[in-house]
Amino acid sequence: MTCALLTGITGQDGSYLTELLLGRGYTVHGIVRRSSTIQRTRLDHLFADKDVYNRRLFLHYADLDDVTTIRRILSKTEPDELYHLAGQSHVGVSFEIPETTCQFTAMGTLKLLEIVRDLEKQPRMLHISSSEIFGRPDESPQNERTPMRPVTPYGIAKTFATQMVTFYRESFNLFACNAICYNHESSRRGESFVTRKITRAAAAIALGKQKDLALGSLDGRRDWGYAPEYVEAMWKMLQQQVASDFVLATGTSHSVEEFLAAAFEAVNLDWRDHVVQDERYMRPSEVSRLVGDPSKANRDLGWTAETTLPQLARLMVESDLASLKSKESIADS
Ligand code: GDP
Repeated sequence: MTCALLTGITGQDGSYLTELLLGRGYTVHGIVRRSSTIQRTRLDHLFADKDVYNRRLFLHYADLDDVTTIRRILSKTEPDELYHLAGQSHVGVSFEIPETTCQFTAMGTLKLLEIVRDLEKQPRMLHISSSEIFGRPDESPQNERTPMRPVTPYGIAKTFATQMVTFYRESFNLFACNAICYNHESSRRGESFVTRKITRAAAAIALGKQKDLALGSLDGRRDWGYAPEYVEAMWKMLQQQVASDFVLATGTSHSVEEFLAAAFEAVNLDWRDHVVQDERYMRPSEVSRLVGDPSKANRDLGWTAETTLPQLARLMVESDLASLKSKESIADS
């Protein structure tokens, strides 16, 4: 049975990837941060499944900077594939906590590479990189050869981690690769990211539970795709003969305003009646012109992002509507 180890298993991508791997017959081990509150709602359905939890799905506690424990977990579980998805992943928050961002996102990756370098049985390793490494690029769309010019603490940390992965691949012969992911969203996206914040608000406003939505700049443009499709590409990357980096993107960018319009349209509302601008959500520095060129992934992985922005906005709004309604019916019963 193929065995995979995931960091960041409780996150959006970690939960979709776990489902994908279990569905393909893998044993899955996940590393989770120890904290006093349990934040694993995205995996609850798997924990409840007695045929899965502690049979084919196992959790281990370790912080990303706890090298000894992570080494022990890797030596014990001997995974064939290692998906490194963990890190401080919020760009806006990275301006407030740059040191923590670098400690986990940059140094956490280097520490993991060092552990893997010393292992007798070395797993194939995937690092989830980000379009943020390109920052304000000269060329658009960006591909795997576009120079990195990050402009946010998160982007800078990811650039360090991405270049380290390439360095370990080229210098120490590790099967290690970067999935250079553009924004990818879903109903499991964290609530502080703009897409989910918008779809939750659209649903709540439609149900009469909320009046307004406070946002920062609406001008930013992103290449937004659907997360379950991206974890499929990550898996495909580790099935290749040769390790290499891939841009995972839709190839089309949209503004925050366009996403807003699509989300509110899904509940027949006009976003202009509800959105207020709030300084608190403005960032000291913004990326620009980020749109990915996924040709290499199309060609070598046979992968294409299929879900369009209006479809994405609609499916997220519908999921938020359903969960708000089910909370309502629990409260009423
Ligand atoms: P990321 O920064 O690309 O990882 O994704 P986000 O979803 O956090 O932000 C996407 C864009 O939405 C950025 O240009 C933000 O400045 C903009 N934005 C506007 N208002 C908000 C807000 O209230 N929260 C967040 N997270 N982003 C916002």
